[in-house]
Amino acid sequence: MSEMPAGSREAAAVTQVDAVIVGAGFSGMYLLHKLRGAGLNTVVLEAGDGVGGTWYWNRYPGARVDVESFDYSYSFSEELQQEWEWTERYPAQPELLRYLDHVADRFDLRRDIRLGTRVTAAHYDEAAARWTVRCERGEEYRATWCVMATGCLSSAQLPAIDGIGSFSGDSYHTANWPVEGVDFTGKRVAVIGTGSSGIQSIPVIAEQAARLTVFQRTASFAVPAHNRALEPGEVEEIKNRYPELRDHTRRSMAGVSRVRIGRSSVLEATADERQEVFARAWAAGTLFGLVTSYRDVMTDRVANDRVADFVRGKIREMVDDPDTAELLCPRGFPFAAKRVCLDSGYYATFNRGNVHLIDVSENPIDRLSEHGVVVNGTEHEADVIVFATGFDAMTGSLAAIDIRGRNGRSLRDKWSAGPITCLGLQSAGFPNLFFVAGPGSPSVLSNMVLSIEQHVEWIAGCIGYARERDVISVEATGQAEQDWVRHVNEVSAALLYSEANSWYLGANVPGKPRVFMPYAGGVGAYRKRCDSVAAAGYEGFVLTGGPARSHQVR
Ligand code: NAP
Repeated sequence: MSEMPAGSREAAAVTQVDAVIVGAGFSGMYLLHKLRGAGLNTVVLEAGDGVGGTWYWNRYPGARVDVESFDYSYSFSEELQQEWEWTERYPAQPELLRYLDHVADRFDLRRDIRLGTRVTAAHYDEAAARWTVRCERGEEYRATWCVMATGCLSSAQLPAIDGIGSFSGDSYHTANWPVEGVDFTGKRVAVIGTGSSGIQSIPVIAEQAARLTVFQRTASFAVPAHNRALEPGEVEEIKNRYPELRDHTRRSMAGVSRVRIGRSSVLEATADERQEVFARAWAAGTLFGLVTSYRDVMTDRVANDRVADFVRGKIREMVDDPDTAELLCPRGFPFAAKRVCLDSGYYATFNRGNVHLIDVSENPIDRLSEHGVVVNGTEHEADVIVFATGFDAMTGSLAAIDIRGRNGRSLRDKWSAGPITCLGLQSAGFPNLFFVAGPGSPSVLSNMVLSIEQHVEWIAGCIGYARERDVISVEATGQAEQDWVRHVNEVSAALLYSEANSWYLGANVPGKPRVFMPYAGGVGAYRKRCDSVAAAGYEGFVLTGGPARSHQVR
């Protein structure tokens, strides 16, 4: 049953701790701070050679956040939010990584983070009520509590294209970018993929490359970022208003402060009114502006089409060549049913003489050759290929670890038809194992940092509650998770998400079950539900007492 080789087990060092956290991104670092503060001997195991998670790995040119910096930042420390100076609305990856490095130093986190330590297995020993977590190099950690802070978008996906190994030039995946960077000067570059990573990197690569060929299978909807430097007075105002802003975001739909959901229907508005509202949302430069401009954008396909038409009109205004503009116009799925992208010069890039768009929607890429990308029998030569081809989202990084709960049951098997969780926090049969921003929680539909903080605080609260009562195991009940999964499905069924082949549904990974994974009910409603579960003594979870109290604790 076990994938842990017995021979090497004796030889490996075993470390006993109270809690093991897997991943040192936004989630793992805050969790370490919280659990350490609660007196738990805690260790964080991180595959990368630095902290930062998503912002450690995604160093591709043009990488920047798509939620405004003053929202996309920790709120747990008043000192931190007052002392840190964001320079832009949407900071680039180096600034975000500097922020996370600063957090690691400021809260003295590094001494409990093991870098370059990839976790391969986590097995629950029911008799001891402890997890054994095993790493690639053979180290073992034993802990009462195990938290997967492994990220929603951290398992990079290469496409299943024939001949992928035969290309003789350099190739890179955007989510596994070399620390030293890549110099494209004078090179012929091919980019495969036009989701957020492609849309961010293409304008920057185009400025350097001799020739850039973009291979697009599905055009994305992108709205302008209108990124800019933050003015000193503006930063001061935000800092003064943090209590109010954070309070609003915690109760909101998407966890961002500058968005209010429209109360009226697109369908009741006149063409002029619609145009004005959409133009205002476009000018605001936020991910959520158009989707929240009217109340029915995500519930009514006709209403949604009005928004989609508006965006297509904007693309035609920005792209000079009419044929290229038509290819760049997304069609066949609702606006925002796939994650909307933020545009910093993407559409305008196709007006450059050195940039060419190859549509591979009807004629897919045949294969990669030694010299480039072959489509419909034509070889497009390249010196470098950039794969902006996305992730096995939400479950990929969990499936990469051999996680086994009670009776040796594997999480991969349990989730073979789609993830099943209670609140996205736990799965029945896996006591004391928590997920941060797991499937079934708002996570990727929200400001991730806000959702991460909420999960970390809930998990730390639950562990604290258990420890105060001599509880040795906390486990979601099968009934509670069934009820939650039903609710998650009901909420998404009322929305337009299932009309697109998105990574939200696992549709980008061959063979992955088609299940809408995040919770679309909003962060405010979700937080209320989590809080009421906790206030009721962790309703829907079984809390089992230790030897002195070998009974269920309630
Ligand atoms: P993605 O949205 O999944 O995009 C992957 C792209 O690769 C798609 O255009 C896809 O086409 C294409 N592709 C995959 N296999 C292909 C093949 N065999 N032939 C041709 N094209 C192929 O991945 P992503 O761009 O990395 O973004 C993933 C998510 O990460 C985003 O939605 C966002 O949530 C997050 N992200 C955020 C930011 C940010 O702004 N902060 C930046 C980057 C990423 P199809 O659509 O046809 O499958």
